[in-house]
Amino acid sequence: MPRIRVQGTDIEYRVLKTRRNRHIRLTVSGKNGVRISGPRGVPERDLHAMVREKGTWILERLRHFNEMEQRQPRWRYAGGERVLVLGEWKSLRIIPRELNTGSIMLQDSDLLISLPPSLCQNETVIADLFHRWLRNWAHIELPRRVVLQAARMEVTPGRISVRAQRSKWGSCSAAGNISLNMRLLHAPPAVLDYVIIHELAHLRELNHSARFWKIVEQYCPDHHVHEKWLRDHTWLLET
Ligand SMILES: [Zn+2]
Repeated sequence: MPRIRVQGTDIEYRVLKTRRNRHIRLTVSGKNGVRISGPRGVPERDLHAMVREKGTWILERLRHFNEMEQRQPRWRYAGGERVLVLGEWKSLRIIPRELNTGSIMLQDSDLLISLPPSLCQNETVIADLFHRWLRNWAHIELPRRVVLQAARMEVTPGRISVRAQRSKWGSCSAAGNISLNMRLLHAPPAVLDYVIIHELAHLRELNHSARFWKIVEQYCPDHHVHEKWLRDHTWLLET
């Protein structure tokens, strides 16, 4: 996606060309993000120029939506509550055990969490344990998938790092280092692999040009569906 930088913040946006549109339209929404659309005859650089011109206004709108989202209830970390793991909802089952520390195990549709009895009602402890488990798993699972996709795509990434960012799912640096968000483990495997394919495709095209999307398309024909999933689930970055 093309992007602009406003007051130190990178803003991605989409350009849509439609025959029906008679005017240039710039919209910002919580669900669809930033979009600019215009009639076919308008040169694309004019649309980009308009986005740049309205940068401050766009940033204000996006901040507004972020605030609204933050007011939404967060996940609860208690017995019977549910969390998303690889795109499937798992119920938390808290099991009191005489242990020094907690442990987590995935079993069918449950996430079994064993804890000393005195901590079984402690949401902070359960949330910390869950995130630690997710992070440890992400450090193994995400690089493993990168290696598989890189072999398919015949590219060689540099360093692969796993992070807990609140703004993005993944990135690829000019030096070819790939960074992935541990929160990707909440997403269905196909979505997770799409993000990996997207970042690996940047090893060949460090931009979002038509050539770039052609590479993505080749290895991930359903990328539109996966992108929508990610857009609809940005709140997961905050859980
Ligand atoms: Zn990209």
